[in-house]
Amino acid sequence: MFSIGLTGGIGSGKSAVADLLVERGAWLIDADEVARAVVVPGGPAYGPLVERFGSGILSADLTIDRQALADVAFADEASVAALNAITHPAIGIEMIERQRALAETDALVVLAIPLLRPIHRETMVIDQVVVVDCPIEVAVERLIRYRAFPEADARARIAAQISREERVAEADYVLVNEAGLDELGVAVDALWSWIDDVRSHG
Ligand code: ATP
Repeated sequence: MFSIGLTGGIGSGKSAVADLLVERGAWLIDADEVARAVVVPGGPAYGPLVERFGSGILSADLTIDRQALADVAFADEASVAALNAITHPAIGIEMIERQRALAETDALVVLAIPLLRPIHRETMVIDQVVVVDCPIEVAVERLIRYRAFPEADARARIAAQISREERVAEADYVLVNEAGLDELGVAVDALWSWIDDVRSHG
């Protein structure tokens, strides 16, 4: 197994890069997807969330209503801390287990983690960190065009994140995604070759 930690700001194109890596044969473990999986009924975070925030967060079909959860969980700092204390370890454990299942294979594993921090390099096997980067104006335009964000919301979400400089400082490889999808395909091919190189030469 060889593992890439893939990160980038909102609208940078992480998911697009992850999809192109999967097309080329990588295995994807996506923190956003795992975050959804751990809160389904029977998932490890489901019971603790209902216990902490009450049955008011449940829909009629007993699944967690994400908006209802957000309304109570983001109400104050203690609630946010409780939400994180329940969900973050559950997500981490699930990601580690999914990765462990591939440990003895020669898979290229892509761990897509929006908020990749140095701590992840200690808790998970991450051989190289790849940061997807684009100018803020490009990310804003994508969020408006493809995600129907109002411009002020797009800018507020970007401003709430760590800066491009801080993110890029953690990178072993920076993939610049500021043009179209054709150019992105070429950039992902270059990343693929770099991974091959690092894998074979250490
Ligand atoms: P988030 O953090 O919100 O999940 P992300 O970094 O995963 O964002 P994507 O979902 O990959 O970003 O990209 C945002 C939008 O921009 C998507 O609709 C995607 O298809 C589009 N997009 C990404 N890169 C390009 C590109 N080079 N050309 C055109 N569209 C792109």
